[in-house]
Amino acid sequence: MLTIRAKIQTFTFAPRSFCRPSMGFMNYTNQSTLTYKHGLYNHIKNQRIDLARKLFDEIPSPNSLLYTIMITGYAQKGRINDALNLFEQMPVRDTISWNSMLKGCLDCGKLCMAETLFDKMPERNVVSWTTMVNGYFQFGRIDKAESLFYQMPVRDVAAWNAMIHGYFCYGRVEDAIRLFEEMPCRNVISWTSMIGGLDCNGKTDESFLVFKKMVGYGILPTATTLACVLAGCANVLDLYLGLQIHGCVIKIGFSSDEFICASLITFYANCKLIEDTSKVFNEKLHKNVVVWTALLTGNGLNGKHETALKVFSDMINLGVLPNQSTFVSVLNSCIKLEAIDHGKEIHTVAIKLGLVNDVFVGNSLVVMYSECGNVIDAVAIFRKIDEKNIVSWNSMIVGSAQHGFGRLALTLYSQMIREGVDPDEITFTGLLSACSHSGMLQKGRYFFEYISRYKPNEVKLQHFACMVDILGRGGKLEEAEELIKNMPPKANSMVWLALLSSCRMHSNAEVAERAAKEILDLEPHCSAAYVLLSNLYASAGRWSDVSRLRVKMKQGGIVKQPGCSWVYLKGTRHEFLSGDRSHTLSEKIYEKLDWLGGKLKEFGYCPERSYSLHDVEDEQKEEMLSFHSERLAIGFALITTVEGSTITVMKNLRVCGDCHHAIKLISKIVRREIVVRDSSRFHHFRSGSCSCRDYW
Ligand code: ZN
Ligand code: ZN
Repeated sequence: MLTIRAKIQTFTFAPRSFCRPSMGFMNYTNQSTLTYKHGLYNHIKNQRIDLARKLFDEIPSPNSLLYTIMITGYAQKGRINDALNLFEQMPVRDTISWNSMLKGCLDCGKLCMAETLFDKMPERNVVSWTTMVNGYFQFGRIDKAESLFYQMPVRDVAAWNAMIHGYFCYGRVEDAIRLFEEMPCRNVISWTSMIGGLDCNGKTDESFLVFKKMVGYGILPTATTLACVLAGCANVLDLYLGLQIHGCVIKIGFSSDEFICASLITFYANCKLIEDTSKVFNEKLHKNVVVWTALLTGNGLNGKHETALKVFSDMINLGVLPNQSTFVSVLNSCIKLEAIDHGKEIHTVAIKLGLVNDVFVGNSLVVMYSECGNVIDAVAIFRKIDEKNIVSWNSMIVGSAQHGFGRLALTLYSQMIREGVDPDEITFTGLLSACSHSGMLQKGRYFFEYISRYKPNEVKLQHFACMVDILGRGGKLEEAEELIKNMPPKANSMVWLALLSSCRMHSNAEVAERAAKEILDLEPHCSAAYVLLSNLYASAGRWSDVSRLRVKMKQGGIVKQPGCSWVYLKGTRHEFLSGDRSHTLSEKIYEKLDWLGGKLKEFGYCPERSYSLHDVEDEQKEEMLSFHSERLAIGFALITTVEGSTITVMKNLRVCGDCHHAIKLISKIVRREIVVRDSSRFHHFRSGSCSCRDYW
């Protein structure tokens, strides 16, 4: 819901009508000026700023209108120094040109420059003051904005609106409401600001009341107003009001407004009425990226990721250029579908559009590559992100942790600190899981103590679970149990499960039984607890305990989730269950596995029978082990992919110890890297060993 709210904010809460036209040039024009004006506009609009300058230099004696157009053009391109030089060359500067220069500085992030200009201005009008007020808000200087507002000699409705809008941007809802009550006269923009601002600050119901009041006063809503109300309906899933607004949209004749369309699509998608989104969409041929992005995001939100990918390729085919939000949404769908091939294509599009170094697109690409098993590409993209934010660092740290690149995670952490980025709870979850996945006990203790001491409010259950895992991996089971008992928040089953799986690795039945009891008290149907405990008994040959557990599971109606593995071949998912013979290539897969079985024996492999849950004859057990789902998936990949390429397998449960051992050898036999993502992490098998160093 929050992300949707943020997305909507990008196109409804900065309504176009807020932008005061800063160039009211109508009074200047004569014929040749008009020709030059159109020429300059045309170049600037088409990103040909240097050609615009060339034309400008040909003008015999440009008037201040033409100067102002050129200055604004430079500022829009971020070339503030060129703008300033030209401004200083102007023979006569009027207030309009001063205001344009002021706005240019602010748009280019030069607050100090703007302040100096503002102080130097020979004559300021209400636009100059309001531009500065907006500027202060833009830089988070609310106090400065306030004091300037109260110093203004004259305040028009736009100045009041700027304050209200600014307050809402910083969550100062009470102040915004107070000003709205105080303002001497309101226009539709004031009302719209209130509606959009209240909704963005989580006060959607209040925003609806304001809307009703506005309609009660007989004020005709603009398209932006209706888009804001629709955004509210999408946020709180108010189907009834949303449908009424849709009716209103048709009546007033806003149906073809692109922003309204986007809001309607998001509204229907949030309300899970995905068919209605296409009805809205299909009414006309859209060329606006916001509408397409709404449709794409809406489909993703409804789990229709394949359709989302289709929407993306349709828009590309139609020549609609995706923006950052589009990329974030479509990459999210790729992640959900684990579709790295599509992800790579989208990556190429991002490169072509020059968006690959953008922080939002970059972050999504990092997560996409790392979740799909390709951490090397994730790192390469991460390095190129221009202005990394906390999400970039966290995504990369968590990614490295999942892949068992513990040292990389620590290096990233120190770089992040050097660059002055403040770590948050997700950073520490990433670091702790990096320590646990890479067996770094001391570092783990250090981070856990650090966060407990300096950020006690940020210590969450997942941090405890990681710490228990770290201690467990280090064989400190008693210490881990002690930690759980003294936890300030009550431990949940996740924390106890971490202890239980450590017990299984260290064959400690005593602690395991206590942990299992705690888990089953909290979550009586937790099959993972039964399986872990049962595996532990099995490895100790305690078959009577195994069957006791099995009876208990049966009585409680608890079903062990069947193991399932899958691989992607040219974008198609191929799924395998244990002992599965339903695949069209089954015969060849089993042939390959037979061949591998022989090779494995040559390499001294001997099946670890304890991993087979059932109390059956040894030979039969061996058979069941060699056809665990991940082995079938690997067999399939071996016969369908190019020799030497990396094999990536996904699995829903943890990989069993016997398969783990076998896959290590297989990577050596076939001389390929095999990446297996199981329910707890990524394993990178390479020439006989695994990145998890046999602990997971
Ligand atoms: Zn297995
Ligand atoms: Zn491993």
